[in-house]
Amino acid sequence: MKHLAIAAAVLLLTGPALAEPPFAKERVEWNVPQKPFHVIGNIYYVGMAGVSAFLIVTPQGNILTDGGLPESAPFIEKNIQALGFKLSDVKVLLNSHAHFDHSGGLAKLKADTGAKFYASTGDKPFLESGHIPYGPSALIDTAPVKVDRAMKDGESFTLGGVTMTANVIPGHTRGCTTWTMPLTEAGVTHKVMFFCSISVAGNPIAGKLAYPTIVSDYRASFARLKKMDADIFLAAHGGQFAMAEKLAKVKPGAPNPFIDAAEFPRFVASAEAAFNKDLARQQAGGVAYVPR
Ligand SMILES: [Zn+2]
Repeated sequence: MKHLAIAAAVLLLTGPALAEPPFAKERVEWNVPQKPFHVIGNIYYVGMAGVSAFLIVTPQGNILTDGGLPESAPFIEKNIQALGFKLSDVKVLLNSHAHFDHSGGLAKLKADTGAKFYASTGDKPFLESGHIPYGPSALIDTAPVKVDRAMKDGESFTLGGVTMTANVIPGHTRGCTTWTMPLTEAGVTHKVMFFCSISVAGNPIAGKLAYPTIVSDYRASFARLKKMDADIFLAAHGGQFAMAEKLAKVKPGAPNPFIDAAEFPRFVASAEAAFNKDLARQQAGGVAYVPR
């Protein structure tokens, strides 16, 4: 009886166990701190172990691409400073796509750096409202962030001799943007790609669609990606470009492990196979997304 009374009192004090919020486990995994490091030329990694952020340094100020999760922003700022760069030197802020794990930190980063924010016309409404109406990311809203310059597919900008081009590959989000830039190091010109994403990631692609043209968008994006190339393939999650494995291979005098022209076509082929598999699964009645 006494034990029951204690149990009842404990329950009164703590309440019944709440359901875990969406993405609770992923958020912790993605947000494991990562020591910032030099990738190649004027490109540095300043993101978390699981969600990326890259700093591109120029004589006229720096470019920062992606803001990570809302809770990543303070770590990204510390990483920039740990490399000896100033937050106020970030002049342009970019985004791969309007999912909370890549756009969640942008509002804070924009406020703290004073940078201008450039993003695709397709994702602008989601970024400015802090809400995407489809896919699992619809479960988590982020702080709205004003887009100072809306970029169309194929549009470029130049800062301090660095020219970045917005390649919009819709599907994962409507304005999913793969940023590309040429980079010359030791007399060799490289094609650098900051890849958005092309995974289904819980988007409804059969039955009640995320948006009417989503399947043809994915198809057109795959066709386009097969015509692109890059020998420095960087992406929005470390796991997508084997960041940890490559970092472990960085050694003075050894070839830079981040240079690999074979990686991007291999990645696209495997992403397209995964898309076709998930399309068939959803067409057979499989649900788009089950929170784990
Ligand atoms: Zn995403």
